[in-house]
Amino acid sequence: MKNKLFFFLSFLYFTAFSQDEIADFGAPLDIPLYLSGNFAELRSNHFHTGIDIKTQGVEGKRVLAAEKGKVSRISVSPYGYGLALYLEHPNGYTTVYGHLLKFSNEINQVLRQQQYEQESFRVDFAPDSVIQVEKGELIALSGNTGGSGGPHLHFEIRRTSDSHPLNPLKFGFDIKDDIPPRIRGVRLHPMSDSTLINGKHEAKSFVVHGSNGNYHLKAGSKIEVFGAFGMSVHSLDYLNGYPNKCGLYEVHLSVDDETICRQQFDELDFATTRHINAYKAYDVYRTNRWHYHKSFIEPGNELEIYLPETKNKGVINLVKSGMHQANYVVKDAYENISTLDFTFETLAVPNGPLPEAKTYDAYFHFDQENTFTYPEEFKVVVPKGALYQDLKLNFGREMPRAELLSARYSLHNDMVPLDDYIEIGISASDLSDELRDQVLAAQYSTTGHASYITGNWTGDRFEFKAKSFGKFALVADSLAPDVTPLTRTSGTLSDNTVLRFRIEDDRSGIASYAAYLNGEWVLTAFEPKSKAISVIFEGTNPNPSGNELRIEVGDAVGNKTEKIYKF
Ligand SMILES: [Zn+2]
Repeated sequence: MKNKLFFFLSFLYFTAFSQDEIADFGAPLDIPLYLSGNFAELRSNHFHTGIDIKTQGVEGKRVLAAEKGKVSRISVSPYGYGLALYLEHPNGYTTVYGHLLKFSNEINQVLRQQQYEQESFRVDFAPDSVIQVEKGELIALSGNTGGSGGPHLHFEIRRTSDSHPLNPLKFGFDIKDDIPPRIRGVRLHPMSDSTLINGKHEAKSFVVHGSNGNYHLKAGSKIEVFGAFGMSVHSLDYLNGYPNKCGLYEVHLSVDDETICRQQFDELDFATTRHINAYKAYDVYRTNRWHYHKSFIEPGNELEIYLPETKNKGVINLVKSGMHQANYVVKDAYENISTLDFTFETLAVPNGPLPEAKTYDAYFHFDQENTFTYPEEFKVVVPKGALYQDLKLNFGREMPRAELLSARYSLHNDMVPLDDYIEIGISASDLSDELRDQVLAAQYSTTGHASYITGNWTGDRFEFKAKSFGKFALVADSLAPDVTPLTRTSGTLSDNTVLRFRIEDDRSGIASYAAYLNGEWVLTAFEPKSKAISVIFEGTNPNPSGNELRIEVGDAVGNKTEKIYKF
């Protein structure tokens, strides 16, 4: 009897305990919480997996452990999260703090030891020793490191068991939001070869007006559709305090009171976050930064955000002619709602000429590996799963120009997204050995912007990987990086000295950088945003005089610059 009661009580206790724990995270900053970004916001090639908390425009705000736990990962990178800390909590969650300026002394010591052991500023490791933290304990100072575009704290909550990031706004932080999302437009997308939207076989956007949660199409708008189509909605959320554009929590499309597609952002998965490029209307995001959320699911889109009532993958195919009522409901994480109601007409017969069959150079299947060859010169392999839907591929070749080592090949265009790398080979013969070592692929975007990709030679074919379509040609990078001091290059050195240098490379980019004090490796931070390195003499005990500092910087094809300074 006593035992049974004990089990019963402990069952109650653990049930209550685990529920309390879910809602019991403390704020990661001790200033009022205002957001510049929220969960699932649409970004380039990924959904935002946390919240961005404003730090009053400055770095150095106190960052506090949201719950008791232990440091499970310390990561330092010139890119992405910059200086980042991961805390694993006994409640089954892990919290992540990104773009930090510096860690607490205890964590910093463990980091420095690891950086000197690996002779690398960039590290990502689980500490050997247990570093315990209490809830509310100072763990770091906020900063602007890595890919951050202004001082803020990036904060995430992940389920420890599968590392899925969860929506932090569902955890009861003291963040105010009574503003419903704004709806800016609705877009119709052809979903068959013969679909006509207002007489044309192309996607079309319609302007939306309204305020305070009630939206409608611009007066005089008329929508007529022949054939299968999908819809998307351009909508952004705003929170109280600042006009930052944030993301939605839920999008629900119904036609004639039946759900077509409904998605919610409770959690994401890093394995599929790039599928955002199938989720958003990719082309108009690229060209106009329009945040169109699609209410249809392309075959290669594996996001697990759709509710079971979603029908026919969101494809609308009403064969009879007639008027229909469409209704969009968009919601933020605090249940603020906006609705858009409009009518459209479906046609049983086309109201314009049916589109002519498109010419193309190859048909690529999204669920197969695809290869295309332009004999003797060009080859591309698109692996299974790299496309979100089948593609009628267009290929072109432009004559060689003086500054190029090959012809310029246009491989479809970069308005079609890729989930994975494609493998490209371009042939070039009669190059000297020295030149072959300096070869890079140049990739030109639709806007003409050039980026550069390293690769390897197989015989006379230069092989490389690209993650988007575009125009490609071979070029050479013969120039070594520039190194220019931004601070003094003489005088004395001490443990507190930090010296900065500007480092730049024209084509292949900075691939290596290192500083040596009297032959010994010194910690050097790389900040790509300011094209600079900082040599940090902390813990090096420089000589009172007669010090030699050597800086080595290399680009991605192996051109090297070495500079020596005496202190
Ligand atoms: Zn962020």
